[in-house]
Amino acid sequence: MPAHHFIANARRPVPGERTLSVIDPADGREFDRIARGSAEDVDAAVRAAQAAMGEHFEGPWAMTCARDRGRLLAAWSRAVLDEAGELARLEARDTGKTLGTARNDVAALARYLEYYAGACDKLHGDTLPYDAGTLALTVREPHGVTGHIIPWNYPVQIFGRSVGASLAAGNACVVKPAEDASLSTLYLAEMAARVGFPAGALNVVTGLGAEAGAALSAHPGVRHISFTGSTATGRQVAEAAARHHCPVVLELGGKSPQIVFEDADLDAALPVVVNAIVQNSGQTCSAGSRLLVHESIHDAFVARVAERFRALRAGPPASDADLGPLVNQKQYERVRRMLDAARDEGLAEAARGRILDDAPPDGYYQEPVLFRDVPADSALAREEIFGPVLITQPFRDEAHALALANATDYGLVAGVWTRDGARQLRMARHLRCGQVFVNNYGAGGGVELPFGGVKSSGHGREKGFEALLGFTVLKTVAIRYGQDARN
Ligand code: NAD
Repeated sequence: MPAHHFIANARRPVPGERTLSVIDPADGREFDRIARGSAEDVDAAVRAAQAAMGEHFEGPWAMTCARDRGRLLAAWSRAVLDEAGELARLEARDTGKTLGTARNDVAALARYLEYYAGACDKLHGDTLPYDAGTLALTVREPHGVTGHIIPWNYPVQIFGRSVGASLAAGNACVVKPAEDASLSTLYLAEMAARVGFPAGALNVVTGLGAEAGAALSAHPGVRHISFTGSTATGRQVAEAAARHHCPVVLELGGKSPQIVFEDADLDAALPVVVNAIVQNSGQTCSAGSRLLVHESIHDAFVARVAERFRALRAGPPASDADLGPLVNQKQYERVRRMLDAARDEGLAEAARGRILDDAPPDGYYQEPVLFRDVPADSALAREEIFGPVLITQPFRDEAHALALANATDYGLVAGVWTRDGARQLRMARHLRCGQVFVNNYGAGGGVELPFGGVKSSGHGREKGFEALLGFTVLKTVAIRYGQDARN
């Protein structure tokens, strides 16, 4: 199939010289090509979305009522489930994630679409007490055209939570998937057209961040942007959007702590703590990358974590490996550089997993690595690695744990393991982050639970009903009626 964008429910093929290579991270070889979108392509997509909304929101998509938007999202969710196997295989090949992870991602996507399908007709404004003779009310309207810049780590999940909520609120979307993971987004857009979304409601332009992504964030026709990715790129997107007063939701990185107190259920904590850093090969914004353990149990618990790390194997998505390869050469080199720097710093490596013997030599495989007793000022303790690398730090007491936990520029997630109810509440109160998970980590995905950061981890919320509200604008309407009107 020739490389193409998807605009107004049609493939827009591009000439060969306007394409980018799609590399299989399992063996480093090209297996497809995608379109390299330009500012003109982005403009065509925004115009298609504007036409679906209409200048005065009289267009076909803007006039689709909430009940029918819900039905379309529900049909799309069912279609995703019907084609879940194919979508998961495509996603695993494109990103390197294991088939199991890809299947979970596709199930989550279907659930996002289902959740927002059901939410469409529960979104409403309010009536307000005001003067006698005046009816004051608020209505929730869509922004218009929304831009969605999506990363490569959880493409279908992030697509589901952001595009699902935006369409549910009645916006028309232009999506710029990551250049390393665009195939599932194109697939989903075609599926949306097939289940009946009108032309222009959902448009996809693939390409490089600095070209198509930058053009989308700077386009004055875009009235809201949802961005997930690196802190540096998030800042650029917000700066470009600010020039046309466009609100932006930023879901950026993290350096999230997992805090284990001496009274914790350690058997329950152990697998969760390990999974929180190795799932998706550590390429997760909410990865639990810092393990803070009370000094009285630090050595014994870290020894158990180390044993688990040694048993983990990285290999191709199609094998039974615990971790797939990293997404691309750039990420692979970045993780290797950080590991080299840690070695030069003299940090103590406590354990290392392994790479399967039959993994292709040119794949981007990184086995899990555990470092213990890492000083708080080390780069490994402060910077997001985005690979399967966990550090440990012992703490003396609750205040020390909090000080270590809050010591980074990030503030996305924190995990707390303790049986002490009052301590659970104190930690939840004082941890400076968007989510606190007590005696669990991530609450199993939690489509219904709002998600987002503070500090350099971003602002605004994705997921749950909160995200839906963010994709609307509140309009106040005050209607005077009758003789008694005052003012
Ligand atoms: P990135 O932030 O540059 O890319 C994310 C998305 O933004 C992609 O779709 C990309 O094309 C687009 N983009 C890039 N430059 C842009 C620009 N100037 N204007 C508009 N859009 C632009 O991330 P990356 O370079 O792929 O990865 C680098 C680091 O980012 C990773 O090591 C990791 O630390 C972090 N990251 C975080 C997340 C997350 O979920 N928070 C996801 C991916 C990467």
